[in-house]
Amino acid sequence: MSTFSTHNFANQKALIRVDFNVPIKNGVITDDTRIRGALPTIKKVLADGGCIILMSHWGRPLKDIEKKPHLTLADFSLKPVVAYLSNLLGTEVQFADDCISDDACNKAAALKPGQVLLLENLRYYKQEEKGDKDFAEKLSKLGDVYVNDAFGTAHRAHASTAVIAQFFPGDKKMFGLLMEGEVIAAEKVMHNNQKPFTAIIGGAKVSDKILIIEQLLDKATDIIIGGGMAYTFFKAEGGQIGNSLCEDDRLDMAIALLKKAADKSVCIHLPADSIIADKFAADANTSSALSNEVPTGWMGLDIGQMAIAQFRKVICESKTILWNGPMGVFEMEKFQHGTKAIAEAVVEATKNGAYSLVGGGDSVAAVNKFGLADKVSYVSTGGGAMLEYFEGKELPGIAAIKNN
Ligand code: AMP
Repeated sequence: MSTFSTHNFANQKALIRVDFNVPIKNGVITDDTRIRGALPTIKKVLADGGCIILMSHWGRPLKDIEKKPHLTLADFSLKPVVAYLSNLLGTEVQFADDCISDDACNKAAALKPGQVLLLENLRYYKQEEKGDKDFAEKLSKLGDVYVNDAFGTAHRAHASTAVIAQFFPGDKKMFGLLMEGEVIAAEKVMHNNQKPFTAIIGGAKVSDKILIIEQLLDKATDIIIGGGMAYTFFKAEGGQIGNSLCEDDRLDMAIALLKKAADKSVCIHLPADSIIADKFAADANTSSALSNEVPTGWMGLDIGQMAIAQFRKVICESKTILWNGPMGVFEMEKFQHGTKAIAEAVVEATKNGAYSLVGGGDSVAAVNKFGLADKVSYVSTGGGAMLEYFEGKELPGIAAIKNN
């Protein structure tokens, strides 16, 4: 495996798999985070004197067109990215309106150092998601070096994210800078962590997080459980949870998890108290209660003051922190306080030398909402991919480059 930073791309054609699956409304890009995320990789190749062929998916054209016949492939085009990227780079970006056509091959072959070509949406072909080998081989012919910078799709064994790597020798395939950052952060937390290692797991459902918690029982010293999923544990232990979120079919599993944690000497921290509401609404009446004594007709929608103090202490004593999932319904102002306080505790621990990784879905949205994203060690952009990594799965996009 070669490293991107030390590779010299002079006079080479870098075929870069990026994740340009950005929100586009009426042809206008409404959030350019993913495009900006790929810029360091693109700029390094251009600065070396290489040229670039960019490939990405956008949406799910074939599946959506099947369900909504008024849509056409043109509704899923990557064309709006051309002018936007060109603006960001300050250089012309060429476009091929098919990713494996003669036109794409000719344009790729004619590229000169410093030039950039964007291919049309890979998912116009069903072969992409199927991981078709012939399709992957056709794509591979477009470049001399394969760079994967799309961590968001690293958990998919698609043609452009994994299968394609077999057509490049070991020194001609590598992670881009964005992907490399994600892999280093994930490995640091799961495999090279310093103890105490606290995992903060929140969100709605315990069933969504069970695989992660199971993995963490072998890695973490402390696991903080907040959000809606905590009430399944309280009910399993015989507590009164009123109308709080609960998965009644997971009560046995919750008890088994607590027992496993005790056997492995992992401390599980459940929120002592909760902010409770008389309905699931932004304008609900609120009060506070012990989390295992929620009155009938009320529901826990955030962690309370005691829980915040309890969790803060654990977080501030940690050397490694992984955070996935909010502590409450942080989208509503009345129930954002717990998630915000935990975000601030993670920031404080980071200032004091802890390594903190915020990964997967809503906790990322939360640190962004509170303006704290640049005050933790790493915020992952790869929602589903990062979750699967934490669940202990081998990601095809990583394996394809690392394992040969
Ligand atoms: P997840 O995608 O599983 O991480 O869940 C995130 C969602 O869980 C967010 O939309 C939160 O509003 C929601 N959530 C967090 N705490 C609670 C709670 N106590 N009751 C209901 N929903 C919650």
